[in-house]
Amino acid sequence: MEWDDIPRAFKESYACLAHEAPTECDHGAHWLLADRDGTGPRTDRNRAVPPELGEDQSGKWLVMVSPEEVDAVWAEVAGATRAGELGPSSKAGTEWQRQAMRASTHLICAYCEDWRDIEDLRRVLTALRRLGLSTGIASFKRDKDTIAGEYQDAGRLPNPSVWVAYAGGVEEPVRLYTKWLSTRWPFAKTELDGTNDAEVARKIEELWG
Ligand SMILES: [Zn+2]
Repeated sequence: MEWDDIPRAFKESYACLAHEAPTECDHGAHWLLADRDGTGPRTDRNRAVPPELGEDQSGKWLVMVSPEEVDAVWAEVAGATRAGELGPSSKAGTEWQRQAMRASTHLICAYCEDWRDIEDLRRVLTALRRLGLSTGIASFKRDKDTIAGEYQDAGRLPNPSVWVAYAGGVEEPVRLYTKWLSTRWPFAKTELDGTNDAEVARKIEELWG
């Protein structure tokens, strides 16, 4: 089963406050959380971002990781999040969640405060790449689209992720595109070139909210 096929209600649910390793968590919790301020999760509700940040603006880079690698990868991502090298928070799907969904991989989300802050999104993706992650094609999804139930092939959007990054390494500039300026199939790509970032985001808000 693919992540996008999972009903939304199942993905929400609760975070584990007891475990640090996703594969050790087998007791009905969906997520492990890490916060930038180092205090750890402040609640066991699966919140996308810390409560003071609005989910109408936030979003996340999506990272799929195999069960064999997820504990080591999550230790790196959680550590980088607590050290302030990523965004305000990150989360990892637990082993319990993976088995319950019959999924082959764990999902790690690296949250960013504002989907329109392209410079910050590039910074966070580069930090993920420094950890050896997200060097292939990477997707950034807005929380408001997750909340609205926008998953692959199920929604109104040209692509459930507002931004997609081309494959690239740490030394290369992050290259992003969107299909959201195109409203009819086949959805054309618009590349962000660093000078049109704000303009593209503004047009997307006009088109899709
Ligand atoms: Zn647990």
